[in-house]
Amino acid sequence: MRELDYVRASDVEEAVALVSGDPDARYLGGGTNLVDHLKLGIARPARLVDVSRLGLDGVEEQDGSDGRVLHVGANVRNSDLAAHPVVRSAFPVLSRALLSGASGQLRHQASTGGNLLQRTRCVYFQDVSTPCNKREPGSGCSAVGGYGRQDAVLGASEHCVATHPSDMAVAMAALDAVVVVRGPQGERRVPVRELHRLPGDRPDVDTTLEHGDLVTGVELPFTDAARCSTYLKVRDRASYAFALVSVAAALELEGDVVREVRIAWGGVAHKPWRATAAEEALTGTTLDEDAVRAAVDAELAAATTTDQTAYKLPMLRGATTRTLLRLAGKDLS
Ligand SMILES: Cc1cc2nc3c(=O)[nH]c(=O)nc-3n(C[C@H](O)[C@H](O)[C@H](O)COP(=O)(O)OP(=O)(O)OC[C@H]3O[C@@H](n4cnc5c(N)ncnc54)[C@H](O)[C@@H]3O)c2cc1C
Ligand code: SF4
Repeated sequence: MRELDYVRASDVEEAVALVSGDPDARYLGGGTNLVDHLKLGIARPARLVDVSRLGLDGVEEQDGSDGRVLHVGANVRNSDLAAHPVVRSAFPVLSRALLSGASGQLRHQASTGGNLLQRTRCVYFQDVSTPCNKREPGSGCSAVGGYGRQDAVLGASEHCVATHPSDMAVAMAALDAVVVVRGPQGERRVPVRELHRLPGDRPDVDTTLEHGDLVTGVELPFTDAARCSTYLKVRDRASYAFALVSVAAALELEGDVVREVRIAWGGVAHKPWRATAAEEALTGTTLDEDAVRAAVDAELAAATTTDQTAYKLPMLRGATTRTLLRLAGKDLS
């Protein structure tokens, strides 16, 4: 039996010092992902530093460097964030993404920081008897040529074809959220779009954070587009299932013409995928079905599929078109 030390940190400085000074220490948020990994033998830390009582559980409006933001503490529970009145009115995409994730009990336990940093649900990653470059660098990728219905169609590498699982992070990518991080050198801000990595030849490294970096919160900029936003998740069951594909979208129109559009996709890549080519193609055009389909095709020009993942492209086209037309108050023809 492996010994596991448990420490409940009493403030942010203590938490950062405890983890950054010990390569075998890990932060424990709600535990819904990390504790599973301990049980499966994927994670083998010697010490868990509980960060759930650091007082990082507020949601409040603040002045940011570029205007007003909603600051969300890292320990705000997913269920509380989804139900928060300002989130529901000013960032509906986030509320809907959160409510589409996991189950009520899990959402009540899962934290904002932990949700951002949860790891892939690739079946081979979760099965320690199979080779996996993310778990064991250099061991190989069992998903290539194996079961691959959930695999990535954008940004994958020969070393890893896994997708990122978080619904919340996809919404935050569309909202241009900024993650507030406290490390041994002090505080810094990381745009959520730069938090998660593509796999390249280091799929074991999920994010751009360093060991010991503590997520203390997330800032959500208030914008007109964010107020007109929504999330559509396509999955095998109506609830309690990870996304096959998902679409987070925010839209600001001037008449019928797109002034600003933000589109992020889940279930397609190793990170929440911001569809910038599609956004560029749509900005300044009249929003209709043909324009959205053409914009999605511009983004998907770089996609690579297998027999098992080819279904994701028409699914993305349909889901993105439906989402944007609904935001514009129109129906599919
Ligand atoms: C059955 C099941 C179904 C699920 N379905 C979905 C779904 O449909 N959609 C979805 O999005 N998610 C789903 N989830 C995942 C769930 O949302 C995550 O497990 C949860 O959000 C993780 O949050 P946590 O606070 O429990 O993290 P933890 O398990 O505590 O931590 C996860 C990781 O984050 C690190 N960490 C935690 N807090 C911090 C911090 N403040 N700073 C730095 N590092 C930190 C930990 O060290 C660990 O590496 C599902 C989970 C289960 C078990
Ligand atoms: S896809 Fe990535 S996570 Fe899955 S087996 Fe291959 S290396 Fe591991």
